[in-house]
Amino acid sequence: MTSAKSADSQNRDIDQMLKDKMPALGIDLGGTKIGCAPVADFKVIGEPSKVPTPKGAENIINTLVGLIEEARKKHILRGVGIATAGIVDTETGEVIGSTGNLPGWAGTHIKKEIETRTGLPVHVDNDANAAAYGEVKALGLSDKTCVVAVTLGTGIGGGIIMKGQLFRGAHYAAGEIGHMRSNLNNHRLCTCGLFDCWESYGSGRGFRATAKELLTNVTVDQTPLAALLPDPPVDKVCAAAQEGDIIAKRIVDAWHEHVCAGIVTLAHTLDPDCFIISGGMAKFVDYDFLKELVIDKCLPRVGERLDIHRSSLGDDAGIIGAAQIALDNLVAG
Ligand SMILES: [Zn+2]
Repeated sequence: MTSAKSADSQNRDIDQMLKDKMPALGIDLGGTKIGCAPVADFKVIGEPSKVPTPKGAENIINTLVGLIEEARKKHILRGVGIATAGIVDTETGEVIGSTGNLPGWAGTHIKKEIETRTGLPVHVDNDANAAAYGEVKALGLSDKTCVVAVTLGTGIGGGIIMKGQLFRGAHYAAGEIGHMRSNLNNHRLCTCGLFDCWESYGSGRGFRATAKELLTNVTVDQTPLAALLPDPPVDKVCAAAQEGDIIAKRIVDAWHEHVCAGIVTLAHTLDPDCFIISGGMAKFVDYDFLKELVIDKCLPRVGERLDIHRSSLGDDAGIIGAAQIALDNLVAG
């Protein structure tokens, strides 16, 4: 009797071990493309596949189901994690806040639709929150009191992790840090319809707006960058700054001041252990300079103890984070 019981429990252990090794499919749904890969132990298996994002909610759902079925031909999946732009009710898996990049997406019951069609457990999360979760777990920062992950891309996204858990707020909208008001003179219109959001200054779009302002009325004799108006590319301006172009340097410095402004507000609000910077603009950040600016603009006890790290997961953070939340939910459930 005892030995039969222990054989049973051994079988359960083996069953659990096999399950623990099974990957979840991570999907990162953006406005222009959908990235997708199986994920186990914070690593993508193989190269993520990328397909263009189709127009309309029904077409997006069909594409997601197609990607899942394709992945199932090669892998036994334990579940699916989907990171999407927009505000997500993570209990029901419904998109409750629309995003300009995915028109008609709000109101879609992603979890219900995909679970019904694939039979797999599905977790849906905001893309910046999923990326934040992946970064914190991958960097071994789960025991920290508070970590703020900032995605500096075309816009700015964010995720707030407290003691290894995402802080979602009262209405699932915590971490919409790109829309913190950072100026009071209604100078720049944000894509959300409000004026002077942090992302109108600190994002890639904000960088280009600053470059445009500082290059207006400048001649090509003063800087060759003037020839790149009306929309000077970020990499060209940063390269010129590296080579000593004074106006380019002024643009890059102003952008660092803008990034610093949001970080300082968050530092004083949350007193985090550290910030993790990811997204397409992360490679243009001079981390020593940014840290110096933050210390200068923060209350002494807040700024000096802050760490600012660059992302460890890079472009795959959304895919890894979404899949890892799905896996962790399955373990917890
Ligand atoms: Zn905004």
